[in-house]
Amino acid sequence: MDKRNRKAVIAGNWKMNKTATEAAALIDQLIPAVQGADCEVVICTPFTSLATAVEKCRGTNIHVGAENVHFEKSGAFTGEISADMLTDLGVEYVITGHSERRQYFAETDETVNKRTLAALAAGLKVIVCVGENLTQREQGITEELVRSQTKIALLGVSAEQLANVIIAYEPVWAIGTGRTATSAQAQEVCAAIRKVVGELYGEEAAKGISIQYGGSMNPGNCAELLAQPDVDGGLIGGASLKADQFSVIVEAASKG
Ligand code: PEP
Repeated sequence: MDKRNRKAVIAGNWKMNKTATEAAALIDQLIPAVQGADCEVVICTPFTSLATAVEKCRGTNIHVGAENVHFEKSGAFTGEISADMLTDLGVEYVITGHSERRQYFAETDETVNKRTLAALAAGLKVIVCVGENLTQREQGITEELVRSQTKIALLGVSAEQLANVIIAYEPVWAIGTGRTATSAQAQEVCAAIRKVVGELYGEEAAKGISIQYGGSMNPGNCAELLAQPDVDGGLIGGASLKADQFSVIVEAASKG
């Protein structure tokens, strides 16, 4: 299976932006803007907007995701949200291991793995984020770091569950900075991720998994990034908050 046979996935990560009221207004703009898309369109919103987003996106081609999930099913974890709480709302996707969670909320490869397993067990589709920071890139350890993040995140994930996993390669130095990886850098690391998936699950699984690039993707650079053979979509932060910008990226992904 080559790129043409994998469905591109464009996912917006709204981060801590938009009240539920503002989310409703943005979704009203997004629905017509992406309705003809020939790719999977996902918006990952703050927890407080999920119910509104699910309600508004029902019957459209927009799928709704959360930005994080806790690994326990329930209990004394004040402030946390379980996978069952998300599926009960009608949420289909969740992001795990975003670099902002790793950087500001002490997420580790191990907790990313636990969250990923809990989400998959509940039937969610998971966008697992991996990526190096600037120091790690300058030290030349990008590939080994991303390989190890990927391996740990997928520990205990069955071959069947892998069908519900998307991996997002997000160089930390490119997130929210306006600095984008070159298309060659994005391709190189996405190919390395596909290789490690192949080592773990076999060639067919590697060919089937969708791997996104994320990091300041925008209408100006998306076509070149999305044209890379191992880049199957994008995880979009800033540009996902503007319907006109997000829809250009969705259109570029639809063209392949
Ligand atoms: C992100 O939040 O995953 C991201 C890639 O953000 P931005 O597009 O703003 O760099």
